[in-house]
Amino acid sequence: MEFIIIILTLIFLLVLIKTIYKININEIKQIGNNNKELDEIVKKYPTNIEICKSILKKLNNEKVNIQEDKEANNCLYIAVSDKIIIANMRDSFTRIQTIAHECLHSVQDRRILLFNFIYSSIYLTVFYIIVVLAVFKILPYKIVFITIYLILSFIYYFVRSYLEDDAMIKARFFAKEYMEEVKISDEEEIDKIVKEYDKLNSIGIKTVNYKLFSTAIIRIIILALIFYLRWGDMIIYPDVYLSNVKDITIQFLMENKLKALILDVDNTLIDYYKNLSEDIVNWANELQGQGIKLYILSNTNKKEKVEKVANKLEIPYKLFAKKPSKKGFKQIQKELKIESSSIGVVGDQIFTDVIGGNRSKMFTILVDPVTKKDYFYTAWKRPLENIIKRKLKKGE
Ligand SMILES: [Mg+2]
Ligand SMILES: [Zn+2]
Repeated sequence: MEFIIIILTLIFLLVLIKTIYKININEIKQIGNNNKELDEIVKKYPTNIEICKSILKKLNNEKVNIQEDKEANNCLYIAVSDKIIIANMRDSFTRIQTIAHECLHSVQDRRILLFNFIYSSIYLTVFYIIVVLAVFKILPYKIVFITIYLILSFIYYFVRSYLEDDAMIKARFFAKEYMEEVKISDEEEIDKIVKEYDKLNSIGIKTVNYKLFSTAIIRIIILALIFYLRWGDMIIYPDVYLSNVKDITIQFLMENKLKALILDVDNTLIDYYKNLSEDIVNWANELQGQGIKLYILSNTNKKEKVEKVANKLEIPYKLFAKKPSKKGFKQIQKELKIESSSIGVVGDQIFTDVIGGNRSKMFTILVDPVTKKDYFYTAWKRPLENIIKRKLKKGE
């Protein structure tokens, strides 16, 4: 259940940020691709490698290797080998700013660049390790792992976005300075190009930040989803689903090595009108005759109602249990001195009886409610339960 809450919260966060910042990835492509006039102006400039060399000279960093790669889609600066890779950029007017961007990466603080390089691979490796451990179901403290990965993700995001923002913000100025120095176009043309760069950056910077952020968040969503698929079910699903408590026979209890049953009252033992059927009295007597311990655990605070049932069945009871809290289950277990796996929890509700029993590591038995009629505080949960019950029936 907690994993579903994490997943929904993170998806909500992504949608919220996308809406607030009006992130629209198509918008960026439109500005970058549709300016024939500016493309023509920039065609007059030297080759990409030459532009790159000139800008590096301005930055006092001429040791960098420059390599052109027609196959690559994106330009790249590789910190460990101190190399700029220039991708196939066609003849877009954006190329000067893009090259300036990579040159600026090459003069950033080397410690941060190397940290970013090493950290990114650790961050990715840890992700795969957690995925593998989760798939093989050998991961303790799942919420702890999700929290650790969340912290790792924020560090990843802050380092990456710091480096990118720095290069993106400065690139426009260095591209402009470069154009002014080489004097290939006049002032008016340079102005037009820079204005277009500004437009591009106003969308581009927030989009890049959103992409980095969403990559990190999506990883956590994937982890929570795998955790949910591997462990989440156990909390919601009962070990057995029966139509009536009377189907719990002594043979059934022996097969499942159960020595005690914790029973719900409302709609499990009695109906909406508080009727306790003679069948159930006989059933309880028979099990107790065979040495099975019975105990009533109810969320209700109506002592009179529960006491009546308990006296008739001659079994102890606890009220106001706050199921799915583990507290009541654990208290009974201590009193009975029976290990939790040998205790069966019987109830008609998934969200109280089954989840509480599963959390207490007991054997959970879901039964159909005695009557269709429910108290209003129970009724709203029934449609959800019916979905799960249908799934259980199919699985058999
Ligand atoms: Mg009930
Ligand atoms: Zn970059």
